[in-house]
Amino acid sequence: MNDATPTDRLYRIAREGLCIGCGLCEAVAGPDNVKVVKTLTGYERPVVVGTLDHATVDRIYDVCPGTRIDGMPEREIDSSTRMDDVWGPWHRMVRAHAADPEIRFEGSTGGVLTALGSYLLSSRRVSFIYHARASGEEPTFGEAHLSFSHADVVAGAGSRYGPTAILARLDEALAYDEPFAFIGKPCDIAALRNQARHDGRIDRLVRYWLALVCGGFAPPESTKDFLERVEIEPAAITAFRYRGRGCPGPIRIETGDRVTEAHYIDLWGVEESKWTLPWRCKICPDGIGDSADLAASDTWIGGSPNRIDSETDPGTNAVVARTARGAELLESAARDGAITIEYDIMPDEMSVYQPHQMHKKYQAGPRLQGLADAGYMVPSTRGLRLAELASQLPDATTAAEREGTSHRVREGRAAEPDPSPARGMLEAVSRR
Ligand SMILES: Cc1cc2nc3c(=O)[nH]c(=O)nc-3n(C[C@H](O)[C@H](O)[C@H](O)COP(=O)(O)OP(=O)(O)OC[C@H]3O[C@@H](n4cnc5c(N)ncnc54)[C@H](O)[C@@H]3O)c2cc1C
Ligand code: SF4
Ligand code: SF4
Repeated sequence: MNDATPTDRLYRIAREGLCIGCGLCEAVAGPDNVKVVKTLTGYERPVVVGTLDHATVDRIYDVCPGTRIDGMPEREIDSSTRMDDVWGPWHRMVRAHAADPEIRFEGSTGGVLTALGSYLLSSRRVSFIYHARASGEEPTFGEAHLSFSHADVVAGAGSRYGPTAILARLDEALAYDEPFAFIGKPCDIAALRNQARHDGRIDRLVRYWLALVCGGFAPPESTKDFLERVEIEPAAITAFRYRGRGCPGPIRIETGDRVTEAHYIDLWGVEESKWTLPWRCKICPDGIGDSADLAASDTWIGGSPNRIDSETDPGTNAVVARTARGAELLESAARDGAITIEYDIMPDEMSVYQPHQMHKKYQAGPRLQGLADAGYMVPSTRGLRLAELASQLPDATTAAEREGTSHRVREGRAAEPDPSPARGMLEAVSRR
């Protein structure tokens, strides 16, 4: 490994299944040197297009959410912070939804994140929202978007279950030198927190760190299989919506004038244990937004919707306000009529809605040890309570998780080829 070139070291993150395609390494190395593009695997991965030195790769290793995931910065924990082993730091947990019925309808769940984004703009707390919307180039993917108006924020509502290199536009967002709120997956928040240690503008400008609770995104091969089942040619898709317009709302696929709709369950399946996920998501030590000011999730008991109830479900989020800032935002937004709080909940209720998150939080420590056993890189983690949680598992379960992971790695199930761009992708990204 000592003789590895900078490119080989960067590609190792993807080769060992740790890249999530967040786009941050493009922002760190500069787009003339590294571009995060769709590759032959169907995922977005970093491709070296210019020069790369070891110092830049050292920096990428220090900020990449594949190699480093930290919990809440110490300075954000105060005397009112409560700590739950599974659910992490929190000030307040509630069931809530957007007060505006249109936002609630458009939102992925109850529209809380969109309502908060809109509220942050109208109350002039921030100048824009840095989040994601459906990609123009690849309709099943998401892409970064900076929203300066209510209409723009609402246009970004909904979950993007395809690859979404949200951090590739970080430099552009920071260059405005205006306060903004960031909405992203927990790994995106972790990456931005990592980068904040190197770029002082981030803590000055990112006023609110908002996360969606995340069990993982859909691997491109699952989306391809799903499209085959509904008999749609990927190249014919002009627009794709995974969720929203109800809870979860239909999957809506447009191919020119034709619209096809399917149910969330048709993509994901009913049983959470059978979800097909990218490798990095299977070993994810933080799907709950441990370092966000506030994290929003679904409230389906058992973690999945059922077809009948979901036809009439208007959508209600569970919301974890983790910092004083997150709690203040939640309470002001409720007071000023942007969101409606139903009632307060406790961590045990979160686990009823999110059993898969609870299980993964317990299992993450042994799974990461399994990577090490198989000789793979292990992401460094801090402040995520992984050792405490693993120590509460029966020894046999810990051993099974650890051995199961190392066995899968040895079988090659974590491995990816070196990133190689899919046709036309570098040109497409040059235009963005
Ligand atoms: C990959 C993925 C996995 C998820 N897994 C779970 C889970 O295990 N449990 C659970 O309870 N909920 C999960 N969700 C979250 C859930 O679908 C809702 O997003 C969440 O409840 C917030 O709902 P909302 O109505 O407030 O969101 P909305 O008001 O619809 O706002 C969603 C916000 O998230 C942003 N966003 C959407 N997709 C992405 C993306 N891929 N990357 C970055 N930003 C994005 C949008 O730009 C928007 O600002 C997942 C979402 C995604 C994208
Ligand atoms: S996870 Fe993000 S920073 Fe890390 S290699 Fe992948 S795209 Fe780059
Ligand atoms: S499961 Fe973890 S790694 Fe996967 S997309 Fe969600 S937060 Fe990122």
